[in-house]
Order: sequence, then structure tokens, then C-alpha cells
Amino acid sequence: VELRRRLSVLDQKRAQGAKGMDKVEVVIIGGGYGGVELALNLLERLGGRETCSVTLIHRGSQVLQYATEYNRKIGTDRLGAAGIEVRTDTSVVEINAIDDDEKSTGGGSWPRCTIKLATKEGEESSISADLLLWTAGATPTNDGKGVLNSVLPRDGNGRIITGDLLRVKNSENAFSLGDCSRARKVPYAATAQVAMQQAPVVAWNVHATLINKIRGEKKSASKDTVKLLPFNYLDLGEMMTLGNDDATITGLGGLFELSGAGASILRRLVYAARMPTPRQGVTAALESTSRRLRTSSRAQGNRKKSPRKVIQWK
Ligand SMILES: Cc1cc2nc3c(=O)[nH]c(=O)nc-3n(C[C@H](O)[C@H](O)[C@H](O)COP(=O)(O)OP(=O)(O)OC[C@H]3O[C@@H](n4cnc5c(N)ncnc54)[C@H](O)[C@@H]3O)c2cc1C
Repeated sequence: VELRRRLSVLDQKRAQGAKGMDKVEVVIIGGGYGGVELALNLLERLGGRETCSVTLIHRGSQVLQYATEYNRKIGTDRLGAAGIEVRTDTSVVEINAIDDDEKSTGGGSWPRCTIKLATKEGEESSISADLLLWTAGATPTNDGKGVLNSVLPRDGNGRIITGDLLRVKNSENAFSLGDCSRARKVPYAATAQVAMQQAPVVAWNVHATLINKIRGEKKSASKDTVKLLPFNYLDLGEMMTLGNDDATITGLGGLFELSGAGASILRRLVYAARMPTPRQGVTAALESTSRRLRTSSRAQGNRKKSPRKVIQWK
């Protein structure tokens, strides 16, 4: 919501011809799925490299380090082709608002900022941004709030430790799933795909635990115990959006690979099909189609507004 608000402020300022708005500077911290998807989609949304510059800062040595090889290659190629500056092995040291920058007042209702960076070798530099987006995650401080207040055993990143039954370690009747849990030593990816596959397993295991408890309490009832199910992850593949008409998909353990416009349509269809109810599926399909049409017409509008190349007839 906040990003949408800021983008519409930038649109208004540009339409009014505000100072410094001829080239919007966007800096994205974090070169994971979210950072790369944002970089390519924002560049497109803001009119392309003539009217926008996007810099992607990543601490690791390559972006999309957890993606499949195919998606990483396609993503990296698209970043290069779009002219997005990617700085790997680089960390953010400090961020400061530039209150008295003349572009700040023209840039919207928030100050521009400078981002101090340091490479792995300790080389420091600074860049400025009209729009700064942080996709590098956050380590929760151990302030005793939320899940950190719980007595459940947690790992160094605050995730609740479970076994393969997704039952919390040292507990008989507490289960944990999704991003906040860790079911094995090498954690599953923090994705919706994992959380959605874990959900029916946890639902069954809660049911089985309750049945077993009831049967244990009622002496006359059956003593057969209901078996709890282990969680087995089935990697269905991964999809990434790389722009309005571009995406990359891998599936079936790498047997299926697709990128470009066809992948973009397939990605939208898969999202719609994966919605929990048919009604949500139809809504998702309709919304994504209308969003696509809106973005296309906005892009056409941007193209019309951009100054035409002057042709020298003589
Ligand atoms: C920008 C972005 C893009 C992503 N894209 C993808 C993608 O393309 N594919 C994919 O598979 N995954 C994607 N993910 C990851 C995916 O969203 C998560 O892995 C998934 O939502 C995890 O599900 P969850 O149920 O564990 O947590 P969540 O979906 O975060 O749900 C937790 C819920 O608990 C609520 N909550 C928190 N604390 C409390 C409390 N104390 N009391 C009550 N309620 C509370 C929260 O408000 C929230 O609604 C993306 C994530 C982000 C941020």
C-alpha cells in the first residue's frame, strides 16, 4: 500500500514536471527473489531506463542464490539487459535522510536518502535514492515480543524447532509450521509452497493428537492410536515474475523450464489455480488480467509522453 502511494506521488510529480523527476533513482537492498522481481517490475512501472535508474545491492556473491540454476541465469540476464546496476558482495553500512536536498521537496512527501555501502574488501561508497526498498529481511531483536516471548525452543534465527511431524520439540501437543518454524537442520525455504504443504499435515496431526488423547481418557473407547504423519516436502518448482510480460519457471526437478511471455501467462494461471477456492481463483485471474492491461496502457502512455527523437531531414 505504501509503495503504491509513493509511486502515485512520483507519477503526479513527474506529470507536473517537478524538478529532478526526469530520472527517478531507485535502490533495492537484497538480491533474493523479492529484490530481483521488484527491480525489474519497478523499472518497467517507472517507464524504463530512460526515466528511472535501479540499483540492486546484494551482500552475497550472486543474486538469486537460492533459486534454481535456470531461474538464476534468466533473472541475471534480464537484470543485465534491463540496465539494472547490480552490486554484489556489498553491504549497507548506514542510511541517512537528505533533508535539505532540493530534489527531496520535488520528489514527493518523503526525503531522499543516501546509502553508505561497503564491499567485502572494505571499500566504501555512497549512493542516493528517491525510493529505497529493503528486501533483505530483518533479524528480530530478542525483545520478548510476539513469538520471541514464547517458551518454545527456538533456533538462532528465532524459528520454532520441530521434528518431521511438525510437532514442537519436547512438546506433545504444540505444532508449528510456515516461516516461523524449522522442521529440519537445513531449513526448508520460507515460501508459501512449503507452508501450504505443511498445513494439511499439521491439521491431521492436531486431529490425531486430540483423538488419541480422548481415546486415552475414555477407558471403554478403542485403544488404537491414530498415527501422526511426517512432513515430506514435494518441490513443485519455482516461478518468478520478471516484468509485466516476462517470467521464468522451473518445475519437475528441472525437467520443465520456460521463460518469457509464455511463462508469464502460465505463472498467472498457476497462481489462479492454486487459490484455495474456485471463487478466489477466478478473482485472482481477473485481477491479474486487469492489472496487466492497466500496466500496458500506462506503459503506452509513458511512451507517448516521452520526448520524440528529432529527425534531421536535411
Ligand atoms: C514480497 C514477498 C513475496 C513472496 N513471494 C513468494 C512467492 O512468489 N512464492 C512463495 O511460495 N512464497 C513467496 N513469499 C513467501 C510467502 O509469503 C511466505 O513463505 C508464506 O506467506 C508463509 O506463510 P506463513 O503462514 O508461515 O506466514 P504468513 O503468511 O506471514 O502468515 C502469518 C500470519 O500471522 C499473523 N500474525 C503474526 N503474529 C501474530 C500474532 N502474534 N497474533 C496473531 N496473528 C499473528 C500475521 O499477521 C500473518 O497474517 C513471498 C514473501 C514476500 C514477503
